[in-house]
Amino acid sequence: MAGRSRPTSTYRVGVSFERRKTRQIQVGKVPVGGGAPISVQSMTTTKTADVEGTLAQIYALAGAGADIVRCTCNEVEAAEGLAQIVPRSPVPIVADIHNNYRRALEAIEAGVQCIRLNPGNIKRPEHIKVVASECKDRGIPIRIGVNGGSLDDKLYKAHGNKVTPEAMVESARAEMAHLAEIGFDDVKVSVKASSVPLMVEAYRQLADDPYFIDQDGASVPLHLGVTEAGPMPTGLLKATAGLATLLLEGVGDTIRYSLTADPVEEARAGRQLLEALGLRERKGLDLIACPSCGRAEVDVIDVASRAQAALDRMDIPIQVAVMGCVVNGPGEAREADLGIAAGRGKGHLFVKGRVVKVVPEPQMVDSLLRWAAIIDDKGIDEAIKLGDPAAAAEAERDRAAMFDEQGLDVNDSGTRIDHIRRLDADLPEGE
Ligand code: SF4
Repeated sequence: MAGRSRPTSTYRVGVSFERRKTRQIQVGKVPVGGGAPISVQSMTTTKTADVEGTLAQIYALAGAGADIVRCTCNEVEAAEGLAQIVPRSPVPIVADIHNNYRRALEAIEAGVQCIRLNPGNIKRPEHIKVVASECKDRGIPIRIGVNGGSLDDKLYKAHGNKVTPEAMVESARAEMAHLAEIGFDDVKVSVKASSVPLMVEAYRQLADDPYFIDQDGASVPLHLGVTEAGPMPTGLLKATAGLATLLLEGVGDTIRYSLTADPVEEARAGRQLLEALGLRERKGLDLIACPSCGRAEVDVIDVASRAQAALDRMDIPIQVAVMGCVVNGPGEAREADLGIAAGRGKGHLFVKGRVVKVVPEPQMVDSLLRWAAIIDDKGIDEAIKLGDPAAAAEAERDRAAMFDEQGLDVNDSGTRIDHIRRLDADLPEGE
């Protein structure tokens, strides 16, 4: 890919990296690929025929960070439901088509903004082409959604009775070829598998496959996912491992976590992953907290959990640090917008590393909320100006007193090192 011009991404993380160049498609109002912000997808778990239930879930998903939502269209009643859901949905709707191409035609009629076809399920080229032709006429993109678990039998056998990255990419190529026959290329592609190494390799091959790269060096936009990742926390870890690996290589234009959980968790995880990687601008809270150690002057887990719950409700795009001690806390968290560190029965409140207030320990969480609101209302610089001028000196006195009390080696690391050295000296020579 050297020499191609590629977009870069960075949102307040101080590091930018290149993204693979992809073509852009439009899923309703959401652009996918071509340097657009990476979008978050999730899928409803309701019966699509249940219009009110499905819409309630779509609104919850959108609120948690989903840019696009997929709904199953597995029966005529589902397509009828989509006809009522799409006009009232806050985000574009993708219809998930299973084995019957008629459902795709009905979903298109319902007004959906994208169709997902699984090449392993709808196999007859004439059916694929009639759907694509209808999409072409109406400007609706298609996701070619290859799934390792439902790979076409012929491909499975041709690849030694195994699901391989090569077989999955070949499946995508074959589907793309059907669409190309009618001049349709308004497409994004996914090659999902439940195995993380398999899916990572399949996406890498897909991103590099010349078949999908046009003369300008732009590839087809990619929808990433680890399918059937499972329940929390394992599912979250598996999906994050696959998604983050690829995203940091610049691969991926839209993502979905497939968790065995409330889909709101999927949307939230997707959004948080992109924010953590600096690929989307922060929309909500980023709470960081120290792991605690022998110096901690407070129950960090308790304070952090209470702060997280309360600040989450405020819905402010802010990074907040909860640190267990004033010896190292303010320095280690000086990049945070707002933070608090515990010491000698007090909380030292700091904004961008500058101490603005010292409060009694029981008021730590409440003061975080108050200062988060001040920052949201007036900005960082004004918040610093509003600080108590005497706070920095009081904080410095507490910090010095804690150093005197605890000494440099509060975790007793020096003693352990001595033991290790003595043990090493006592052990016999040899491997
Ligand atoms: S030194 Fe202080 S801030 Fe760092 S882990 Fe220990 S308690 Fe937390």
